[in-house]
Amino acid sequence: MNQPLPSPRQAPMVDPFGRTISYLRVSVTDRCDFRCVYCMAEDMTFLPKRDVLTLEELDRLCSAFIEKGVRRLRLTGGEPLVRRNIMSLIRSLSRHLESGALQELTLTTNGSQLSRYAGELAEAGVRRINVSVDTLDPDRFRAITRWGDLGKVLAGIDAALAAGIKVKINAVALKGVNEHEFDDMIRWAHGRGMDLTLIETMPLGEIGEDRTDQYLPLSTVRDRLSKSWTLGEIGYRTGGPARYVEVAETGGRIGFITPLTHNFCESCNRVRVTCTGTLFMCLGQEDAKDLRAPLRASEGNELLAAAIDEAILRKPKGHDFIIDRDHQRPAVGRHMSMTGG
Ligand code: SAM
Repeated sequence: MNQPLPSPRQAPMVDPFGRTISYLRVSVTDRCDFRCVYCMAEDMTFLPKRDVLTLEELDRLCSAFIEKGVRRLRLTGGEPLVRRNIMSLIRSLSRHLESGALQELTLTTNGSQLSRYAGELAEAGVRRINVSVDTLDPDRFRAITRWGDLGKVLAGIDAALAAGIKVKINAVALKGVNEHEFDDMIRWAHGRGMDLTLIETMPLGEIGEDRTDQYLPLSTVRDRLSKSWTLGEIGYRTGGPARYVEVAETGGRIGFITPLTHNFCESCNRVRVTCTGTLFMCLGQEDAKDLRAPLRASEGNELLAAAIDEAILRKPKGHDFIIDRDHQRPAVGRHMSMTGG
């Protein structure tokens, strides 16, 4: 039976629209070993080290949020598993799982380093991870990621499953690229007990390409899938923005994340922090609050807590992404690798 969780030691974070913030995503690095075409430009400039929070600072920051009522913590990036000594942060944060303050510690990864880390992640209490795989074709995989090795990622997924970690596959739906593969991906993912979540491309950051060429509405994908599969509406939620259907033929689930065709902001319970300690109250808006200065200004957390409280009061009602020929610029200038997926 689930034990009742201890209540936060400080007043819970509630935004002006009555939404309680209980989910934090932290980008632990802006660096990645892939350069997915919809995510980054090929010649990305990464941040100088001094701007990036140390692992100790990241621990303090996450712990401050947990004290304020965050129950689910997701580490992302960039690629979280390419950050040097990342396991020391994860092992340290797992103390909050042991105390019961944190319900879930998880990560979003491209899977390239999972063979190496799966066992340690499981030992640290990571029960569930998201792995991004947009295609099962090795050549297409290399083209989308600009140089990724699909075989390595699949071996990483095997290692995670063998370690007892539940894996969800995330795939960005890309027009003319992977749209004919979803049936195969459903068979593959569900055959191995993994849910598959499809994501619409979001207009985040300059990528040196035209996003209207990539954008594929998931409403179209869902209509197509319903011709080959029996999709049943279910109320299943994982605390994220995905809406799920169950596939009668496989017993597995498909999630749809539709920031463009459906606004999911009304139930938003999350905020995001970049690896430089900038707090974004909404993935699709520019407003942000610097937490690095208050974090570095003193050893105590009072300034930090005050800065977080002030920012939560500015959490906007929602975002308004548009991708069409009249809106050629990204909705927000920063890349997904900065705020994390
Ligand atoms: N490197 C890790 C990974 O690949 O999962 C974590 C970071 S990555 C930015 C997180 C997720 O964001 C990935 O599933 C990626 O496909 C997705 N993503 C990146 N840019 C996106 C965009 N412009 N629109 C939609 N999803 C995007």
